[in-house]
Amino acid sequence: METCKAAVFVGAGKPLAMQEFPVPPLEPGAVLIKSLVAAVCATDVHAFHNPRAPHPVIWGHENVGAIARLGKGVTTDAYEQALKEGDRVIYYPATCGRCFNCLAGGLPCEVRRNYGLRPFTTPPHITGGFGQYVYVEPNALLLRIPDDMSTERALFAVIGNHTVMNGLEKLGGISVSDAVVVQGSGPVGMGALTQAKLAGARRVIVVGAPAGRLQMAREMGADETVSIEEYREPEARAQRVRELTDGRGADMVIECSGADTAFQEGLEMVRAGGKYLNLGQLTDYGPMPVNPSLITRKSILISGVLGPTFKHVTRALHALHARVKYPVEKLITHEFPLQRVNEAFRVHETLEAMVAVVRPNG
Ligand SMILES: [Zn+2]
Ligand SMILES: [Zn+2]
Repeated sequence: METCKAAVFVGAGKPLAMQEFPVPPLEPGAVLIKSLVAAVCATDVHAFHNPRAPHPVIWGHENVGAIARLGKGVTTDAYEQALKEGDRVIYYPATCGRCFNCLAGGLPCEVRRNYGLRPFTTPPHITGGFGQYVYVEPNALLLRIPDDMSTERALFAVIGNHTVMNGLEKLGGISVSDAVVVQGSGPVGMGALTQAKLAGARRVIVVGAPAGRLQMAREMGADETVSIEEYREPEARAQRVRELTDGRGADMVIECSGADTAFQEGLEMVRAGGKYLNLGQLTDYGPMPVNPSLITRKSILISGVLGPTFKHVTRALHALHARVKYPVEKLITHEFPLQRVNEAFRVHETLEAMVAVVRPNG
């Protein structure tokens, strides 16, 4: 039987291990994907240090691949665009359409089986982007990448931009007269910056560090940056944001940093009647000091959002293809072959990388 290689997480703190897996025959409706590019996500790095993180598992949930084989009956993507072997696609877990989240809309399906986050149970185990092939089950959602779009650009439809689009939809979007603050200068922050510029925001301010990331933010269209290394105290940063926003604060603040004190800081940065979108607070720090009177006194509209839906992946791809003029591909600062996946994790963790990717097939 044909085999392929994949990098396996085998327990907290242990380097990902290269292992060999059988490539099974396809059941009707399934698709075999040749993994082209897979990004290391903060979620992976976080799990890497978590003794309770499920394993063994093949990670890699921010991926673009090409169709290696189509199972019987698969002729199109989710939007009835014809598919053939070699076409590049984004793949997304099937949604059941029947659970509470599916029925409510805007929420991830409760019974979805994510790619790149699924510990081994029954084979095939090749369900993560840090492997040469990914077995995509029947009913999963495929999105064809336009031929004139680079694989690297398409990758950003599943890094940051999709989640930001879901969140902005919940809060009614950004208007051309808005001043927007993005807390955090990592990949999700860059997605928020990209979407704010795309919406025509009159001014976008990115708050973060280190200097190299803020420089990159300016290349991606940030009108102003506020360095947390320069403005070390939260109050100094909020003051700087007010100076840059007519003394009133931002119309919209988008939290993408994941820092434990970011929520309170963001409340200080929003203007009266403004909006606050929370994307970064995935780590449960427990109760944090927050002054809720700011929410009431400033009449702030607040929302969180946990990831995208397939609709937002699609919209992000369309926007990146047709409208985003900034060189988002440049956000990929480090590339490694599969055997060097552990180096990709290292440069992510040290913040040397903006986005570090693995190319499992060279
Ligand atoms: Zn992720
Ligand atoms: Zn569902």
